[in-house]
Amino acid sequence: MTSPKFYIPESAMAIVAHPDDIEFGCAGTLARWAKAGARTSYIVITSGDVGIAKDGLTRQQAMEIREAEQRAAAEIAGAAEVIFLREPDGMLQATLELRKKLVREIRRFRPEVVIAGDPTVVLASDRYINHPDHRAAATAALDAVFPAAGQPHLFEELAAEGLTAHKVRKVYIDVWDNTATAFVSIDETIDLKIAALRAHTSQMKDWDPEPRVREWTAKAAEGKEMQYAEAFRVITLEGDEDWEKWKGVVAGRP
Ligand SMILES: [Zn+2]
Repeated sequence: MTSPKFYIPESAMAIVAHPDDIEFGCAGTLARWAKAGARTSYIVITSGDVGIAKDGLTRQQAMEIREAEQRAAAEIAGAAEVIFLREPDGMLQATLELRKKLVREIRRFRPEVVIAGDPTVVLASDRYINHPDHRAAATAALDAVFPAAGQPHLFEELAAEGLTAHKVRKVYIDVWDNTATAFVSIDETIDLKIAALRAHTSQMKDWDPEPRVREWTAKAAEGKEMQYAEAFRVITLEGDEDWEKWKGVVAGRP
């Protein structure tokens, strides 16, 4: 049951490197917010076009497949929009140019919350090194959010397009480890998260994501009043008297 105190932003933007990153990380949360009326935006920096290594398939064709899969996944989770920046997959760098592109998106959509990855994660586990594109996307996203998007005299030329400074209220960092400070219950949307992952058929192949996703999200929910959770470290950038009140509920901690 949804707690009446559950924090629902008016709008949220997730910024990631590849198609399927949102689904693995935070699609359950975005789907829950969208169901509650939030506008949600997916910014996918590359189109994952080196992510299908099949003989005879061009990168252009791979891009089209992956963008279509991402659009289908976003629709399942009720996203208001999906934007592809079409930066080079596998070679992403957190340049000033990319920062400006992300500032443009933030000033256009004006999200209350931005969700991004953790740029400090390199050795993600004993079995996985975090993809360099994930680190670059996370760095570029955080650098765009703060302080760039909110500074009227930075990237002033965007104002000519009507894109004035915008301060993001909170950043949700999708975390892998024990640095999480907020656990969003996805009990109501875990089925949507799984369905959205399945929409990435070129990546799932014969792998059924359901058992692992239930296992991971159940682990994040352990000891809290929820069955499945996505874990975040939340940074509150703008003054928020209410946040202390929400925090306990969202985190499920006493
Ligand atoms: Zn990825």
